[in-house]
Amino acid sequence: MTDPTDLYFATGNAHKVAEMQALADDSKLALRLRSAKEAGGMPAVVEDTGTFVGNARKKARALHERLGGTAWVLADDSGLCVDALGGEPGVESAHYAGPGATSAANLAKLLAKLQGVPPARRAAHFICVLFVIEPSGQEHDFIGRCDGRLLECERGHGGFGYDPIFVPGQNHLTFSELGGAVKNGISHRALAWADFARWWRRRSG
Ligand code: IMP
Repeated sequence: MTDPTDLYFATGNAHKVAEMQALADDSKLALRLRSAKEAGGMPAVVEDTGTFVGNARKKARALHERLGGTAWVLADDSGLCVDALGGEPGVESAHYAGPGATSAANLAKLLAKLQGVPPARRAAHFICVLFVIEPSGQEHDFIGRCDGRLLECERGHGGFGYDPIFVPGQNHLTFSELGGAVKNGISHRALAWADFARWWRRRSG
């Protein structure tokens, strides 16, 4: 049996590492997910491209370079797009309430902006772009989208970011209430990972 391939994940977000690790374990690919910490830390990257794919590419390239350009690297960029706000917060999801804002502050700003918007107009979706760089330098991107709607107040304690107000698909519970195992079956990150896993299996024969 051949050794699993090391895939370095370009993020400093511990929640994302945990979710991605669970996805990698479930998919049973011959891959070992390594954190950016194990590569000496995630280099600082200014996420200023204005697109999910552009930001993910920037993060992947920064870690690929730190690793000497010879490793497999994975990066993700994700965010919440709200129809009634013309797609906001989108690529600004992590910093919606300003530079260095906490998740609680971002969520409070979003709820304030949506005050008075009726349930029928509270559609939103999460997007996740996974960006992979091969040791050869070849680049690939994979996209996942999870549609749902936003509540008027928080419910549940699991997950992170906007999870306590996001109800996916036809569910009645928020991502926070549904918990990690259910979320990892339907989330934008899970769908992008599934797209990547199909590609990985094809190329591995
Ligand atoms: P990124 O680290 O630049 O990709 O920013 C992602 C931001 O989008 C996070 O900080 C959250 O605010 C939000 N986000 C992305 N994925 C999720 C999720 O699965 N649940 C809740 N919020 C998320």
